[in-house]
Amino acid sequence: MSQRLSKNKINHLKTEFRLCECCGGGDLELMWTSKSVVVRKINTWEFPVNISICRDCGFCFSSPSPNNDDLMKYHEDGNVGFKGESLPYSIDERLRILNKYKVPDGIFVEIGGDDPGEFHQKCSRYFRQLISIEVTQDLKNKSININNLKQSVDVISHYDVLEHVLDVKTFLSNCYGALKRGGVMICEVPNLRLYPDNLLLQEFEHVNHFTISSLSMIAEKAGFNLIEFDDICSRPYGFVAIFRKDEANKDYNKKIINEFSEARESVIGGLKQIDINNIQLLSVRKKISQLTKDNKKIILWGVTDLLRSLLNDYKISDQVMVVDSDPRRKDDLIMYGVKVGQPIKYINEFLNSDLLVICAPRYSSEILTWVKSNTGKIFKDESLSVIGVNSSGKTLR
Ligand SMILES: [Zn+2]
Repeated sequence: MSQRLSKNKINHLKTEFRLCECCGGGDLELMWTSKSVVVRKINTWEFPVNISICRDCGFCFSSPSPNNDDLMKYHEDGNVGFKGESLPYSIDERLRILNKYKVPDGIFVEIGGDDPGEFHQKCSRYFRQLISIEVTQDLKNKSININNLKQSVDVISHYDVLEHVLDVKTFLSNCYGALKRGGVMICEVPNLRLYPDNLLLQEFEHVNHFTISSLSMIAEKAGFNLIEFDDICSRPYGFVAIFRKDEANKDYNKKIINEFSEARESVIGGLKQIDINNIQLLSVRKKISQLTKDNKKIILWGVTDLLRSLLNDYKISDQVMVVDSDPRRKDDLIMYGVKVGQPIKYINEFLNSDLLVICAPRYSSEILTWVKSNTGKIFKDESLSVIGVNSSGKTLR
C-alpha cells in the first residue's frame, strides 16, 4: 500500500528539459511560467507550467516539463486520472465522424475514454467489437498497452488525451502499430489557434498545445497520412483530425512548415485572456469583501479552476459559502479551509444571500434556473457575478 501523506504537505513535480516532439529541436522560446497547486486523492501537488515554442517549427509545448515519473505519480493519485473535471462532450459530434469510418465487422478502440458508457453503447452499431484502454495505466507503462492487443484493429480514437502525453511520438507509433493497414486514427485535442478566445492556457496539465499543422507533422513521422480535419468536434475549442495508416502516397520530402510567429501570437492572445480574467477576479473579490464587511452572505457555485484562482491568496470568511452539485467535490477545497456543500442543502442560505458568484460559466443558465425553481429567488445584475466569460458574454472555458 502506498504511504498516505498529509494533504498539507506539498509534493513538487520535478521538471526536466524536453526537446521538441515535432522536429526534435531544442531552440525554444519560453513564453510563460506559472504553477498550480492542486489537491488530489492523497496528496497536494505543485504542478509546474513552462509554455515554450520551438523556434525551428513553432510547436508549442511544456518544456521544462514535469518529470515523467513524477507525472505518473501525480496521475495515479486520484483514480480518475486527468479526466475528473473535464467538460462534458457531445456524443453526436463523435458519432458524426465515426459514421464516416464505421466498419460493421471491425474492431474499435478508444484510449482514455471519459465516462464512455452511453457513447460506447451508441457506437456499437458501427463496429462488431469495442475495446477501452485506460489511459493512466498506459501512461504508467510509458507506452500504451495497445501493443498487447491480440489482433490488429480498424479504428483507434482518443479524445482530449494527447495534450496530456509527454511522449507523443511513441504514443502515435503505438497506435500505428496496432492498426490494420488502411486503419484509421481519430484524434481530438484543444486547438492552440483558438487560445485567444479562451482560458485553455490555464489548463496546467496540458503538456502539448497542438495546431492541425503541428499534430499532422508529428503523426506523419509516425507513418500516418492526414485525411480529414474539422474545427467542429465533441468539445468546445478543439479540433478533430483523422489519419490513415497507408503506405501509399507518402511524401517523405515534405517541408517542415515553421509556424513560430503564429504560435507566438496564439499564446500571447491566450495570456491576454488570462489577464482580463484576473482583473475580473479582482473585482469579484472586492465585491465579496465589501459585502462581507456589511455582514451580507455570499454563495460561490462550482468547484472549478476559476474558483481556485478566485481563492488563491484570498481568504474568505464564514459568510461565504461554496456549493457544487457534485457531492464528490466536498473535500476538494480543504487546502483553502473551505467545505463544499450541496446546493439542495443550502436553500435558506440562497434566500439570505446578496450575491451569487457562478464559477462554472458554461452552466450558468442551468444554475440560475435551478436556483429559481428551488428557492424562488432570482439573482441578476448586482446580485450576480459570472466569472470566466469575456465582455461579449462568451464562455472562456
Ligand atoms: Zn520543433
